[in-house]
Amino acid sequence: MIVVMKRGATPEQIEHMIQRVEALGLKAHPIQGTERTVIAAIGEKRDEHRTSLESGPGVDEVVPILAPYKVASREVKPEPTVIRAGSLAVGNSHVGMIAGPCSVESLEQTMATARAVKKAGATALRGGAFKPRTSPYSFQGLKEEGLKILAAAREETGLAVVTEVVAPSDVELVADYADVLQIGARNMQNYPLLEAVGEVDRAVLLKRGPSATIDELLLAAEYILNAGNPNVMLCERGIRTFEAHTRFTLPLATVPYLHERTHLPVLVDPSHGTGHTALVAPMAYAAIAAGADGLIVEVHPDPESAKSDGYQSLTFDQFAQMMAQCHRIAAAVGRKIAANEAADIQA
Ligand code: PEP
Ligand code: MN
Repeated sequence: MIVVMKRGATPEQIEHMIQRVEALGLKAHPIQGTERTVIAAIGEKRDEHRTSLESGPGVDEVVPILAPYKVASREVKPEPTVIRAGSLAVGNSHVGMIAGPCSVESLEQTMATARAVKKAGATALRGGAFKPRTSPYSFQGLKEEGLKILAAAREETGLAVVTEVVAPSDVELVADYADVLQIGARNMQNYPLLEAVGEVDRAVLLKRGPSATIDELLLAAEYILNAGNPNVMLCERGIRTFEAHTRFTLPLATVPYLHERTHLPVLVDPSHGTGHTALVAPMAYAAIAAGADGLIVEVHPDPESAKSDGYQSLTFDQFAQMMAQCHRIAAAVGRKIAANEAADIQA
């Protein structure tokens, strides 16, 4: 349920209500809106205490949260959440552009890609150091060496680093190097991993599982939020259907639908969503037109020789051309692809 404080409720009254909620054995998530503060009270049997909380000082009303997810829902927080992580800003008027190789393969490959995507206007660098591969015989990533390469690329370009973490035991290590922790599609329902990234001070990019419903995606986000991390961005990356011509089916209706249900930013991955280089740019345009708060796109200096996902990677030139068109489409729908102005990014 949500404890809606009166406009002008004092900090002492808000703190008092947080303590009352917690004394009932519920978890209190205070959310400061532009006009008033609400406290989401999360836990089992929460509705039993509704009337007793309603009489608290500075309380306007106590209302049940109807959605199965709570902290992620628009009912709790009507305003869109803006997430800033280094050079990356996503949400509300901010559209982020995360670009880079599927896998970090070498210092040269990652540096060249970071420089090229920065020049073309990317606002963050992606690259997998821990790779969750379908086959155990495929390239598994450079692990910590890959993280060091990403950190070197950030040092030179100023681009925030987005990289995947695949196991709870690696979260601290990856968080030492990354600005944004990516939870891959295969791990969307790895609940210990979700809780582990919920406990660190790093933004999280949560990808939709290929067989997960939108409610399941939101409930996965809820695990991270509930563990104390408010900076969760959702990512539609395609789902499995009977269609075989594209690697996955990319349902872009997810974007406006999620915007109705949640305040969290919604990103789209047109690379994994299509699995074909030629389809990436058109779906990127459509995603921005549909209101996506950001894109995550695979770019490689020489896609043909990529150790993973070359068939869906863009060359530097293809990425630069795509960016130019993305700017035009963003402007047409009243948005802007821009780096986080608060970050210290070198030219
Ligand atoms: C990736 O972004 O490199 C990746 C593995 O994506 P997904 O988890 O969506 O398959
Ligand atoms: Mn990939």
